[in-house]
Amino acid sequence: MSYDIVIKNGRIIDGTGNPAYTSDIEIKHGKIEKIGYNLKDDAATSIDAKGCIICPGFIDIHSHTDYVLPLLSKVESTIQQGITTQTIGMCGDGLAPLHPEKIEPIRDILTAQSSLYKEYEFKWNSFSEYLANMEDIRCPANSAFFVGYGNIRIAGGQGFENRPATQEEMETMKRYLREAMQAGAFGMSTGLIYPPQVYSSTNELIELCKIVAEYGGLYFSHLRGEDENLLTAIKEFIEIVEKSNCIGGQIAHFKVSGKKNWGNSIKALKLVEEANLKGLNITFDQYPYKRGMSNLPTALPPWVLEGGREKSLERIKDTAIQKKIIADIEKGIKGWENWIKNNGFDKLYISTAQTEKWKEIRGKSISQITKIKGLDNDWQTFFQLLIDENFDVMITIESMSDEDIERIMTSPFQMIGTDGAGVPANPMIGVVHPRLFGTYPRIFALYVRERQLLGWEEAIRKMTSFPARKIGLRDRGLIYEGNWADVVVFDPKRIRDKATYNNPIQFPEGIMYVIVNGVIVVDHGKQKRKYPGKILRRAS
Ligand SMILES: [Zn+2]
Repeated sequence: MSYDIVIKNGRIIDGTGNPAYTSDIEIKHGKIEKIGYNLKDDAATSIDAKGCIICPGFIDIHSHTDYVLPLLSKVESTIQQGITTQTIGMCGDGLAPLHPEKIEPIRDILTAQSSLYKEYEFKWNSFSEYLANMEDIRCPANSAFFVGYGNIRIAGGQGFENRPATQEEMETMKRYLREAMQAGAFGMSTGLIYPPQVYSSTNELIELCKIVAEYGGLYFSHLRGEDENLLTAIKEFIEIVEKSNCIGGQIAHFKVSGKKNWGNSIKALKLVEEANLKGLNITFDQYPYKRGMSNLPTALPPWVLEGGREKSLERIKDTAIQKKIIADIEKGIKGWENWIKNNGFDKLYISTAQTEKWKEIRGKSISQITKIKGLDNDWQTFFQLLIDENFDVMITIESMSDEDIERIMTSPFQMIGTDGAGVPANPMIGVVHPRLFGTYPRIFALYVRERQLLGWEEAIRKMTSFPARKIGLRDRGLIYEGNWADVVVFDPKRIRDKATYNNPIQFPEGIMYVIVNGVIVVDHGKQKRKYPGKILRRAS
């Protein structure tokens, strides 16, 4: 046998956006060795792809799987939808760098994702130590890492204090950032609605991004606002990329939130287009759903969250402070994204609650919970939930319109990303967002096949070569001789997502094979015990 795998009789959509063509593929030693018509059946494994599309494995340019990897690394929800490379360390939060004396605030952030982090023993401090530890984890998908500004600020800067960095803190943060970039990070990410990142100034971010620029890295940002502050936030983002001289910027999970802002995608896209005309290389990722996902404490005004979790919990237990919080939310605070006022308690759905008392309300909106529990009003439900759950409550928020979603999706600067994570099909994980299980198949089922907004070739380009090119992966994202054999074989007539808001833990249908580095990891919906994923580092 000359080859490991031969895939025959399928139509190749190679990821460039060019039209499909019929050809066979030979895979050997993890790479695409040969592409040609009617190749000899001279391989250990022969795949008949009749009626199927053969395309590059999907590159999820926005994943939070870094939270999951140290605990569970089979990333089932990721791999089963055809994702072969996950870009992680998003929205400014990650698992490194860690300062040995400042691990607790990071642990607080991680515990909101999984209670297992309460006891977790971190075996690393620096970013390079972190990557070395991740090398030891067996994962079916490849991983590319960004370093989070939140981590850098907690490890080396002013942490949760709402003030500018001192000269010395700035230098320490830059040292941490340099170390991460040298270790192979693809850039720096921010999540500017989350404390402590919400306290950052534009200038501080520009100064840090200058370091990212020295290494040819990207600036990746969950913007400071996605609702009425969206346009200002995009301008800030563009300013940071421009003044720091970064090679490019990526806006995370691009969206227009809040009913009264619907339609603003026209203006938002125009800003992106103008920046690209100036040569700034600004793109964005998007998931195909009307609800977003986040954590409930972020619905509190930023001043409540100053100083970290303990202080914040004390504050919200005080009824006088509760009154002030309600007044601030009802009135609004300039520059702050106000989910309760903009969307309403009936549009905020609880995904995860850990205590017995609240477990059965998973999947319900806060307004529904008030009725179920017979509480006086939604504010009481809101505060009680936060207090009882010690702040560890994840939510989904219904905040977007179809029209904006479609307009953003058809932009030439858009690519696909889940903003999800690789998790097992286990009800213990809570009522997660369906995007964790269904993003990529949903694009095909809903936006290619049903609404015909995108062609197959264009949709696949947005999932493969476009994100690969953006972060700088030179040998992935295309069906091309010599590239790594990350390949998906799927049935275009059958592919569809099954995950819903109420029943999100469902794998998609219609994906026949997922191949990572030349190894079959999914065979007709069955995941094998194979872990060929690699830790990818930025090529210098
Ligand atoms: Zn985010």
